[in-house]
This record gives sequence, structure tokens and C-alpha cells, in this order.
Amino acid sequence: MEKYQSRKESIVSEDIRDMVIIGGGPAGLTAGIYASRARMNVVLFEKGAYGGQMLTTAHLENYPGFPDGIGGFELADLMHRQAEVFGLPLQYLSVDKIRKEEDLFVLESGSDEIRTKTVVIATGATPNKMGVPGEERLTGRGVSYCATCDGALYRDRTVAVIGGGDSAVEEALFLTRFADSVHIVHRRDQLRAVPLTTERALSNDRIKMEWNTVLTEILGDEEVRELTLEDVKTGKTRQLEADGVFIYVGITPLTSFVADLVELDESGYIVTDKAMASSVPGLYAAGDVRSDSIRQVSSAVGDGATAAFHAYKYLEEKSGV
Ligand code: NAP
Repeated sequence: MEKYQSRKESIVSEDIRDMVIIGGGPAGLTAGIYASRARMNVVLFEKGAYGGQMLTTAHLENYPGFPDGIGGFELADLMHRQAEVFGLPLQYLSVDKIRKEEDLFVLESGSDEIRTKTVVIATGATPNKMGVPGEERLTGRGVSYCATCDGALYRDRTVAVIGGGDSAVEEALFLTRFADSVHIVHRRDQLRAVPLTTERALSNDRIKMEWNTVLTEILGDEEVRELTLEDVKTGKTRQLEADGVFIYVGITPLTSFVADLVELDESGYIVTDKAMASSVPGLYAAGDVRSDSIRQVSSAVGDGATAAFHAYKYLEEKSGV
């Protein structure tokens, strides 16, 4: 491990970084592992916890290398530790804005400014809110966006999961370990989740499908007590008694801090080429934050490696290092 701690071979001076990675999920940590092994003068900034959305994923069974699957939290911890093995400097810091000054990027964080030759944006995405009455007031009191974090609170109780994508259905299956009854409330009559996950959910006795149904209100004084559901075909509403509601209605990319610098697609994701290069030379994007990502941990890892590799080549070509 010691051999990785010296930065003598770093390709630029300490005050201007070769690379700043923003975001400590699988894409960012992988970019960091590659950049630190390439002896770049790199730092990774994370504003919350290392691991990104892995931290809110109970169990991953499609990440290669783990035939029995692996917990999201455990995989996040392993990636974080591996980045530390290579001496990747990790810092808790939130980047407010990035601007370009000639050949350098200037990252603003409060009154601090960090200068760097390349940037890898791996900020990922954040869960969408439903925007229904009661949601905000009862968040943390029965409304949750993380079954891994809160599922165990619902042992022998009734919960609802909103959404029909991979996240909703996988986390509904996870919740059946605790809850007696899990209602999946989906606005259509067909799930979006992959077939294997769908089959498991449809054959699970503890899961009840509420097809063609939307959540319109969350009720309860101190804690969630019941939900108002609406049949999208008939417009009829009904009440469902529930102790908790887990909302998985998609994700929004965290790109507002670069919205006026780099090209985004119509949904706000960063447009990249196959080298993970954005519309701004020297600025790369990796993982869920980039347009056309398939939003898997395994693809995020590949994006991170690709971004770091091409950022290194970009620097080499520019400076002849
Ligand atoms: P998603 O695939 O976008 O699914 C969102 C779900 O919420 C959809 O079923 C959608 O309905 C529903 N929805 C959206 N807005 C709604 C609203 N206002 N009211 C009611 N329902 C609403 O999001 P996700 O499940 O979070 O997954 C995000 C990405 O990560 C996807 O690419 C997914 O494949 C990937 N992912 C992969 C895995 C895995 O491979 N194991 C696990 C988790 C996530 P419609 O179906 O009608 O649009």
C-alpha cells in the first residue's frame, strides 16, 4: 500500500489539480481508483456519504463477482476502501458551480475555489418526489425513499410502494422480509422492471398489485396512517390503510451546478461521447448523471474507468507528459 502514497510522480503541481472528481458513488470511486493508480494529482469531493445510490439498495445480484449477490452498503464500503488503498484523497465538499477560466476549471464551494485541469462529474441522481399532499410533512414519519434504511421498522405491518420500475419492484421484494403486506401502486397495468424481478413480485404472496392506480394523498397526524388512491381509468378514489409508503418514481440527475456550462439533454442529463467527454473539453461525466447511461452499478463503474482513462490521455496530449 505504501508505494501508492507518494505523489512525487504527479503530473502537475499541488495547487492546480490534474483532476477533480465530483461524487463518490460507483462511477466517481472507480474514476478515483484509476486516476490515483495513474499517479494523477486527483481529489474526490463528496457532499454526503460514499456509495451514492448503492447505499439505498438492499441487495445487488447483477454486479459481477458476487454470485450470491451483495448488499449495496457492503459494496459501497468495499469500493471506498479500495479507493483509499490507492491513496485517493477524499474530501467532504459540495461544489456550487463550475466555471472555465482559459484552460482551467474553477470549482466554487462557498467562498473556496479549487482549480483543476480536468473534471469528472459523477454526481448521480436523486429520487423524485410525488408532490402529493402529506408527502413532505410525513417524510421520516412513514414516508421514505429508502427501503434499505427504513424497511426493518415495518415488521408485520402494511406498506405501499409507489412506482413500477426496477427500484420500486426490487425494494418491494426486499420489504416482504419485514412487512406482512406490500402493496405496489402502479399507474399502468404492466411493470417496467426487468422480467425476472417482475416474475418474482407477481408470484410473491405478500405483494399485492394495485394496477392503474396513483397515490393522491398521504394521511396521518404524527405518522402515516392511510393513503388515498385513485383509479386512473375510472377516476374513483379509495382509502388504503398503510403504516408506511416507499416512493420510487424515478430519479433526477444532479446537474444544476453545471447547467450553464455544459450541454444537457432534455431531461437534464449531461451529454457525453463514448469517451465520457462532455461538450466542454476536459470535462467528463460518468454514471447515472450522463445521458444514455443504462443506470446500473456495473455501467457506472465502466463509465468511471473510461472517464479517468480519457481525462489522463487528454492531459498527456495537452502537456506532453
Ligand atoms: P424508472 O425506471 O424511471 O421507474 C420509475 C417508475 O415510476 C415507473 O414505473 C413510472 O411509471 C413510475 N412513475 C414515474 N413518475 C410517476 C408519477 N408521477 N406517479 C406515479 N408513478 C410514476 O426509475 P427507477 O426504478 O428508480 O430506476 C432508475 C434507473 O435505474 C432505471 O434505468 C433502472 O433500470 C435502473 N435500476 C436498475 C436496477 C437493477 O438493475 N438491479 C435497480 C434499480 C434501478 P411508468 O412505468 O408508467 O413510466
